[in-house]
Amino acid sequence: MTIGILGGGQLGYMLALAGYPLGLHFRFFDPSPEAPVGRIASRVTADFRDESALEKFANGLELVTYEFENVPVDSVRFLAERAPVYPSPRALEVAQDRISEKTLFQELGIPTTEFVPVAGRDDVDAAVKKIGLPAILKTCRMGYDGKGQWHLRTADDVAKAKSELSQHGTITPASSEIPYILEKYVPFTRELSVIAVRARTGETAVYPLVENHHRGGILRLSLAPAPHLDPAIQRAAEQAARAVFDELQYVGVLAIEFFEQAGKLLANEMAPRVHNSGHWTIEGALTSQFENHLRAVVGLPLGSTLAIGCSAMLNLIGETPEAAEVLAIRDAHLHLYGKSPRAGRKLGHVTLRASSSEQLASRLSELSSFFHRPEYCLDAVLSRPASLRA
Ligand code: AMP
Repeated sequence: MTIGILGGGQLGYMLALAGYPLGLHFRFFDPSPEAPVGRIASRVTADFRDESALEKFANGLELVTYEFENVPVDSVRFLAERAPVYPSPRALEVAQDRISEKTLFQELGIPTTEFVPVAGRDDVDAAVKKIGLPAILKTCRMGYDGKGQWHLRTADDVAKAKSELSQHGTITPASSEIPYILEKYVPFTRELSVIAVRARTGETAVYPLVENHHRGGILRLSLAPAPHLDPAIQRAAEQAARAVFDELQYVGVLAIEFFEQAGKLLANEMAPRVHNSGHWTIEGALTSQFENHLRAVVGLPLGSTLAIGCSAMLNLIGETPEAAEVLAIRDAHLHLYGKSPRAGRKLGHVTLRASSSEQLASRLSELSSFFHRPEYCLDAVLSRPASLRA
C-alpha cells in the first residue's frame, strides 16, 4: 500500500520511519529538492499548485495525507477527487486561518482568548480599543514559529505595527479574506498541547497533555506528561479534541495548543497533523504519534497512547550538539533530520526518558554545556522545586 504525503520535512520523515515496519510505502510531494524525505523515500519535486505534478503524484496512491499545514486547499481538493484525503480538506481549511479556527473553537464551546478580525491598518485602532492592551496582532494565515506577529504593549507598539502592516504585502492573502487578527494577551501560567487521534472507524485515543516552552516563537522544550497536571485539565483538553473530531469527522492525528490560565484552558490553535510537541511519543509512549496517524488513516486499530515514564524533548534549532555527548546519557535519544544548518531551522531533536520526574531532572542536568543556554529553557524545569516537577 502506497501512501501519498504532502510535505517532505521532518514530520514526513518520521511518518515514513514509523510506517515502514507496518509494511507501508510512501510517496512524497514537496517543492524543495532538499526535503529531508529525499534520503528515505520517493518523491515528486514540484510546486503545490502544479496540477500535472499532482496528477502524477496521485497515480496509484491508496490515500493521501499531509504533514505540512500550508498546502493550498485547492490542491488538496484536487487530490481528493483522485484518492481519499485524511484529514479532510475542510480540516485543513479551518486550521489554515486563525479566525476560522478560533470561531470553530467558540462554536464548539472551547474557550479561547478574546479576538477581533482586523482587515488592515485602518482597523487597528478600533480593534485595540475593543480588546485593550496588551494584545497580539497576528497574520491570519501562513504564520508559523511566531512569524507575522506584533506584540502590542504600548501606543508606540501600535503605531509601529500599523506602519509595518502596509509593508506586509508578501504574506497578505487574497483581498476577500481578513488578513489579520487581534488577540487579547493571555498572561498564562504555561502552554500545554494535546495530541489526539481519530481513526477511520471513529475510534479515538488521546495522549497525556504536554507542557511546552517557546523562545522567539519556536518550541524549544516539551515535558510529557505535563508535570503537576490537574486531571480536570486533561479532561477538558480531551473534550476539546473530541468536539473537533466530531464536527470535522476528523481522521488522523490532531494537535491543539492551549494556554493554561487560572486553572482553565484557552485554545490558541490547532494543527491537523502530527506535531512537534508529540515527538516525545516515539520513545515516551507505547505507540508514537507517527504510527498512530498512519494506523488512523489506513484503517488499522489505534495503538495505546500511554506514556512510558516521563520524557523531555529538546528541539535542536540552528545547530546540533556532538552526538556522543547526548548518547552518553542513559535513555537519551538523538534524532537528526538530515537538513543543512541554518539559523532558526529545526535540525533535529533529543528525547530524554526517565522513570520518574526526579530522574528526568537529573538526566536533564547531565546534558552537556551545549544545552545549558537560555534558549533550551532547561531552567524552567531545573529551577522548579521537586514537588512541582511531578
Ligand atoms: P502562535 O503562532 O499563535 O502559536 O503563537 C506563538 C507563541 O506566541 C505562543 O506559543 C505563545 O507563547 C505566544 N502567544 C501567542 N498568542 C498569544 C496570546 N494571545 N497571549 C499570550 N501569548 C501568546
